[in-house]
Amino acid sequence: MTTDPRFDGPGPDQTWRDALAAGRLEIQHCTACDAAQFPPSLVCRTCGAPAPSMVAASGKGIVYSTTTVRRRDGAHNVSVIELAEGPRIMSRVTDLSGVVRIGAEVTAKAEMGDSGPVLVFVPEGSE
Ligand SMILES: [Zn+2]
Repeated sequence: MTTDPRFDGPGPDQTWRDALAAGRLEIQHCTACDAAQFPPSLVCRTCGAPAPSMVAASGKGIVYSTTTVRRRDGAHNVSVIELAEGPRIMSRVTDLSGVVRIGAEVTAKAEMGDSGPVLVFVPEGSE
């Protein structure tokens, strides 16, 4: 039995998580068609080329959509952030002094969660 070399070593998910644990937000960039994508995948979702490279993202984005989830222990938001590079990420905006507005500028931040690093966004200028 031969193994597919694309599956050798840590997968794109693990590579991404390791970078986030080190405080870096990475996305993938396809050298074949110049597409930026998230979440990481073994192939480019635009052109199918294998192994898009992981590149550092600026971490800057805007709130594309947001909704409030209310629970017994309080409310938090679930927001889709459109990165400056193009891809959209489902995440959460923290450190709120007010309400999350669509179109608001936000910056990526890695927070330590119970089961590893979690990507959240904070309002621009609040770091
Ligand atoms: Zn491509």
